[in-house]
Amino acid sequence: MAAELHLHLEGSVPAADLGLEPYQYTGFSGFLQCFKSVVQCLNTPEDYARITRALLRELGHAGIDYAEVTLSAGVVLWKGQDLRAVFEAIRDASAGANILWHMDAVRQFGPSAAMQVARIAAGYAGAGVVSFGIGGDEKTGPAEWFQDVFRFARDRGLRLTAHAGESDGPGSIWQALEIGAERIGHGIRAIEDAALVSHLARHQIPLEVCLTSNVLTGVVASIEEHPARLLYLEGVPITLNTDDPAIFGTTLAREFQIAREGLGFTDAELEQVASNAYRFRF
Ligand SMILES: [Zn+2]
Repeated sequence: MAAELHLHLEGSVPAADLGLEPYQYTGFSGFLQCFKSVVQCLNTPEDYARITRALLRELGHAGIDYAEVTLSAGVVLWKGQDLRAVFEAIRDASAGANILWHMDAVRQFGPSAAMQVARIAAGYAGAGVVSFGIGGDEKTGPAEWFQDVFRFARDRGLRLTAHAGESDGPGSIWQALEIGAERIGHGIRAIEDAALVSHLARHQIPLEVCLTSNVLTGVVASIEEHPARLLYLEGVPITLNTDDPAIFGTTLAREFQIAREGLGFTDAELEQVASNAYRFRF
């Protein structure tokens, strides 16, 4: 069995299920546009419930017995939809499954939009929602904007994560840690800062690494240049994840295979990486 900690609900939907052409994009901004085209097909709470049921079937086929799944809650509000109704449809659709939900705000929409997400997420703390965080464009929505929002969420019992160090550098990761992120989504550009690498290792702060995602969005030039194993060898706890399995055309098993064949992880190392997903779950 396996667990996954960085998995976006909307990125798990096959294009054909939405009546879209096969996903195509170039670079990180192209990927964000592609993700946007998916969310624009999700118009009702039932649409979200339907893709949740499909995701649960996929997780079952993949032998994943625990997942923390991200809902791009900030995008739901941005579309003018009722986030509570959407989440309750999702929660009902996933009742009985061993998954917990993460609500993400969108960095570039700013702190007041993020606070709206946090308020609603806090209403479901301990009732399906385990964590709150930020994703989107690190460069136009720096983590320091979200200090008050993160404090609000933490005070109400939510755990904290941030996408950081994916398209922007180590400074973005330091900022995410300063506002209280307990896990870092991606975080791979930590490799550019030796002090940050030793901080992550010393404090055992895990990175949610998504290999195929990083290659296809162009944040690393090729799998061979991916720093995941270097980070691992420095003692940084890493987990492997699919991020958006339908958009990136991958599975969790495939990510482990790529780590073995493309990065030289040994089977013993990969066992430890796999166990990290349980060790660092919320
Ligand atoms: Zn992500």
